[in-house]
Amino acid sequence: MRIQMGRARNVRPWKKLLLVLMILLVPLLVTSPRPLTARMVADSENGTKVIVLNYHKIDNMNISLSVLPEDFEQQMQYLYDHGYHTITPDDLYNSLEGTEELPENPVLITFDDGYRDNYDNAYPILKKYGFKATIFVVTGFLGKYPNYLTWDMAREMDANGISIESHTVDHKSMTDLTDDQLRAELVDSKKQAEKELGHSVDYMAYPTGTYNLHIAQLVKDAGYKAAFTIKYGNVDKASNIYALERVPVFHTEDTNKSFLERIRYTPIFERFGWIKS
Ligand SMILES: [Zn+2]
Repeated sequence: MRIQMGRARNVRPWKKLLLVLMILLVPLLVTSPRPLTARMVADSENGTKVIVLNYHKIDNMNISLSVLPEDFEQQMQYLYDHGYHTITPDDLYNSLEGTEELPENPVLITFDDGYRDNYDNAYPILKKYGFKATIFVVTGFLGKYPNYLTWDMAREMDANGISIESHTVDHKSMTDLTDDQLRAELVDSKKQAEKELGHSVDYMAYPTGTYNLHIAQLVKDAGYKAAFTIKYGNVDKASNIYALERVPVFHTEDTNKSFLERIRYTPIFERFGWIKS
């Protein structure tokens, strides 16, 4: 720098300055689209990042697992207003297999356990926005306990855009079970749901989110196409198909603010490798 300034002082400083500026700026202008393109390619290496939202109850209980119906409505309104497209587990699976293109801003809305309030409170809101969703039901609890869905409710929703999938027979933490018990939980819940719904049931979510690679293998052996955890993050082609990430939504002091932060920032965090390991 000092050398250039010294020379510039001797011969027509403004011309030298112009030349230096041109030498510096022209390559910048010409090459500036390149870093952008490179970044876009890096983003698309693992395909679209899919947000899989995970809810439990939609009611006024004021516990962390219970999102208020009015908050849930605002969240669905947000997704609707911001061009999100709800997808089914099959859509997600097929896109990971490379046989289906996902819509822009895909989101898979899931509920765990199969609470009755999903039918009473969430289903009308989902219908209002024309949204698809998925409920992982504890098959042994349906029609048995009053705060869980009946199979009639499950069938009605299943016929109207809400996929009913397995959350095992009785929600035991899977890492505490023997192989025989694990097989029974996986196979019996699948069979019962298939009998009640009249079609194949191909997806499950691990109760309490606990799993390991051995359990994941048993899930595969039982005939499931994919399984969902509560491991935080978005799903892309780098995900393990039997340990898919989800983004939980809880009732907090400011539920909708937490929801927005999770929706907006999870993909950005992952792009910089801050979440997915
Ligand atoms: Zn559960």
